[in-house]
Amino acid sequence: MTTELFDKPDLFQAKRILVVQPHYDDNDIALGGTLAKLATNGAEIFYLTVTDDLVGIIDQSLSEADMLAGLKADLERAGEIIGIKDSFWLGYPDAGKYDYFDVRRDIMQHIRAIQPDFVITCDPWMPYEFHNDHIMAGKAAADAASLYGLLGLQTDPAVDAAYEPFELSGIAFYASAYPNTVVDITAEWGKKRDAVDQYRMQFSAEDMEMLLAHLEMWARQSAADSPFTYAETLKVMHTWQLHLFPDAWKV
Ligand SMILES: [Zn+2]
Repeated sequence: MTTELFDKPDLFQAKRILVVQPHYDDNDIALGGTLAKLATNGAEIFYLTVTDDLVGIIDQSLSEADMLAGLKADLERAGEIIGIKDSFWLGYPDAGKYDYFDVRRDIMQHIRAIQPDFVITCDPWMPYEFHNDHIMAGKAAADAASLYGLLGLQTDPAVDAAYEPFELSGIAFYASAYPNTVVDITAEWGKKRDAVDQYRMQFSAEDMEMLLAHLEMWARQSAADSPFTYAETLKVMHTWQLHLFPDAWKV
């Protein structure tokens, strides 16, 4: 075992970050405090939402256009609180049937266009995760973050033609069962709480109260071994650790 194999890149050196989420609220629910901290630190943060997120909307009598507008408005208000620069949607059917390679291609296109130095997503290898959208988004993001430099994998012709080679510094996974990084979000807890509170299309007032109480407990629990009050945890890796490296879970 060498330290190099188990080395991890420094997320807080990142200046451009693409954060890929299955649903419109996952980034802020799992990582809003860290993302607010990274934004304050000067990073440009872009959200990419893989699904259309229509299934969980409380008022299913709304037209699809009104649902999509409502989701976008929720995310924009939350994004202003967190300090994100821009957000994009891929529109795959929430909890539905879609193709893994289409999702990978679209994430790869955004990596080539945005040229982030870090990709963050949900950990697709979390044991006991049933939700296929989470497994698909996290896995496709890890795949795209590893293979985006291979132009034999085509995305949008204009994006591919304009592509200038660059190197990602690393990838980070939230909701990981194997975290290697604890981020102090005590100062950002208020922003996270306010941002999550904007996601009204999918949460009744009562459900939101429960979610926020759960998140506070989770943040306190994540900080249990630390000198601070609230924390979030992440698994931060080099992309080369994502292939043919059986000890990657120990990084
Ligand atoms: Zn989700």
